[in-house]
Amino acid sequence: MERSGLDRRLADAVERVGHGLRALSQRTAREHGLTPLQQQVVLALTAQPEVRREVSALAAEFDVTKATTSDAVSALERKGLITRTPGQDGRRRLLALTAEGAEVARALEPWDEPLLRALDGVPEADRATTLHTLLRVIAGLQRSGVVSVARTCVSCRFFRRDAHPDPVAPHHCGLLDAPLPLAELRVDCLEHEPATT
Ligand code: SF4
Repeated sequence: MERSGLDRRLADAVERVGHGLRALSQRTAREHGLTPLQQQVVLALTAQPEVRREVSALAAEFDVTKATTSDAVSALERKGLITRTPGQDGRRRLLALTAEGAEVARALEPWDEPLLRALDGVPEADRATTLHTLLRVIAGLQRSGVVSVARTCVSCRFFRRDAHPDPVAPHHCGLLDAPLPLAELRVDCLEHEPATT
């Protein structure tokens, strides 16, 4: 399919952002003696609900193999930053941060501050439209198998597209039974359930 010059430039711009974030993540991880994946694991263990704090769930979340995630987890265990405890079924091994790991997580938390600062001064309407567009891109990448896990509004079975005439809040959440302002679309919603189509 022939692509417009705009699509090409958008793809190049997104790739450029990706390069910048990878370099930033490598720098902040190195400052704490971690690899970027180990940094992701530490940060995920502060944010994810218990059900996702295990190797296979994290591997899917990060789009890497279980073996690679398991290596990162073992390295973090050796560094004294995380522990594994049996889950309720006795088989699963739930991961948790140690006190030292929680301290490292707190220090890592502002790792993407330069990205947030770069958004300063962009009008809210533009940021909201960008969020909406990026969620549609993520959903497209999920459909084509590039992204494994995305719990966003636009890929949710409760999402009703263009249910309202208001351009600021055109969509609707069937679970909350409320309009969804573009600026409040969720990127990682706990109530998300995948749409079937
Ligand atoms: S349940 Fe969550 S992800 Fe689904 S539409 Fe509602 S707010 Fe969005």
